[in-house]
Order: sequence, then structure tokens, then C-alpha cells
Amino acid sequence: MPNPSTTPLNLAMRLAGYGWHILPLSPTSKRPLANCPTCTPTRGAARHPIDSCPCLPAGRWCHGVRAATTDPDRLTAWWRSQPHAVPGVAAGPSGLILIDLDTHATDPPANAATELLPGIDLTGHPIAAHAASIRTGLDTLALLARLRGGTHPWPIDPDHQPVVTVTPSGGRHLWYRAPAAPLRQAIGQLGWQIDIKVGWNYGIAPGATTAAGTYTHRSGHLTAPGYPPTWLAREVARVASPVPLQRRHPYPPPRAPRPDGVPGRYLTTVINRGAAELAKLKLQDGRQRRLSALAYQAGGLLAWSGLPEHQVTSWLIAAGEASDLPTRLAARIVHRALLNGIGSPVTPAALRHALPA
Ligand SMILES: [Zn+2]
Ligand SMILES: [Zn+2]
Repeated sequence: MPNPSTTPLNLAMRLAGYGWHILPLSPTSKRPLANCPTCTPTRGAARHPIDSCPCLPAGRWCHGVRAATTDPDRLTAWWRSQPHAVPGVAAGPSGLILIDLDTHATDPPANAATELLPGIDLTGHPIAAHAASIRTGLDTLALLARLRGGTHPWPIDPDHQPVVTVTPSGGRHLWYRAPAAPLRQAIGQLGWQIDIKVGWNYGIAPGATTAAGTYTHRSGHLTAPGYPPTWLAREVARVASPVPLQRRHPYPPPRAPRPDGVPGRYLTTVINRGAAELAKLKLQDGRQRRLSALAYQAGGLLAWSGLPEHQVTSWLIAAGEASDLPTRLAARIVHRALLNGIGSPVTPAALRHALPA
């Protein structure tokens, strides 16, 4: 008999009581529960504008993170209908910055000096000597802390203590209070195996259990997450805030890592090639169309690839940005086309003869 204080509904209600905006996620895919048929785009059709969607005022969970709420009646109705849904927490509406530190078993990038911390070149820097021992996102964040003069990625000072959660795979989620300045509505990569989620993005609630296991709240106060230390706030703003156009992208399009396994490698190759082509296109119209086609293709391959959706989303948005598309536009194109692609999954069997070397 499960302890009633730990049911998903109880967890959702408790966190909503702290002012966190909650949405229901699938326990297996960890993605938002499916939209109603009206809100599900058919292949090729445009999604309707969320701001005028009747489902949200009517209290349905369509459009994922956009439906997140603190309303106890709405949460009760959702979990009465889907008692096993996993509570997710919307970053922006809850006033949070979510930092994911992964421990995926992939090799660190070949050129650690330029690829561990996107946009930062460590070539010739004394700190580059530490790059060789990097194995996980925790190591990458410690390296960044050292580079920026912080003593530790998460200071012990209570004002700066994040909510720390241990993920089933041994990674960490660090949740900080967001600064007052608006952050862009997207996700970004702070470093190798470090993702940042702000704005209309979400994370799995501390204490929740998915098919992969439990997300264990380790430290920090759920009622009062700390502010990031100054050096980290600056780094987050560097990656997650709009940047003046003329100061953008002295660096090449990001290269997606190549995880083990043919399907994951196939999709990362597709994205890398697409990003390289995108960067060469002169007209913004052409870049928009190419990014949309690339995201649609990636969406079709996503389930088969086994790569996490948030990762693929951030690579695609970064590829759009690197071709000088405005961030918001790139994010909008990617989210729409990727979702459409996910709705038309590609059959892996048809691909097996066409794998890139
Ligand atoms: Zn709907
Ligand atoms: Zn809708």
C-alpha cells in the first residue's frame, strides 16, 4: 500500500502550494500528456495559436507546459483522471532556472578546449589541464566554476543553495530562483552534459517517480530555492538571454555529441550536417525553411534514435541561432516542426540500408 503522502497528486498539490506551476507528465516518456485531438496537429498542418486555444481556459492539459497551474481544483481533476501522471514543474512561471547535470555514458568531446564549454575557448588557458578528467556534467560545472572564480558549483551559503535532486541515472538537477531579468524562452547548453531550462520549459518534480526511478530531493529548501551565485547567473544569462545581433556567433555551429548506438549516431549526423548547411545559407527565408525541414526530419527520427527530446531541441535551436536566426524565431520553428515530425515517426527498418558511415 503506497504511502498516501507520496502519491503524485499529493506531491503536485504540495509543490503548487509553494507557488510552483505544475503540469502532468507521462511516467514512461516523461513528456507532457497528449493534447486533445483538436490541439494535435495533423501532418503538415500548422498548430493553432496557443493564446486563443479554448482548452487552456477550460482547464484541460493541452499544450504541455503552457497548461501548468497552481490551481488545486484543476490539479485534483487532472490526477483524478490520470492518477499515475508524474508532476512536472514549469520553469518560467514558477520563477525557476533548472540546470540538468547529466551522467550519460558518452565520451567527452574530442577537442575539450573548445567543445566542453560552448562559446568559451580554453586553448592555452591553465585550466585546460583539468579538462582531461571530465567525465560528467558535474565535472563540467566544477570546471566552469573554477574558470569563473567560484569556489564550488553550489555554495553552502543558504541564500545561494539550489534545490538539488538526484536523478535515477545518477545525474543532478539544480533548481535556482530565477533573476528578475527576463530570460529567453528556450533551453540552452551551458556546457558538455549541462542543460539549462528557463521560460516555457519544465523539469520533473523533486520526489516524483517515473518508470526510470525516483527523483530524490537531496538538499535545498523547496519553499525557498537560493539565487545562483553571481558567476553562475552571468553564465546562465550568457546562454539563455537574448544577445545583440552584432555580437552573436563568432563561433561555428555546435556539433552534437555522438552517443553510442547507431540510431543516436544517425540522428546526430543528420543534425550536424543540417546545421552546417544552414550556416551557409544567405537568405533568412531559406534558413527558416531549412531549419524547419531539419527539425521535422529530426522529429520523425526521435523515438527511434533514443536521444532525449530536450537535447535534440536544444541542438536544433542552437543550430538556428548559429546561422544567425533570432533565438525566439529559431525556438518557435524548432518546437513546431519537431512536434510535427514526432507525429510522423519514421520506420527504422527503412533506414537500415542508409546509415551514414
Ligand atoms: Zn485541446
Ligand atoms: Zn489547443
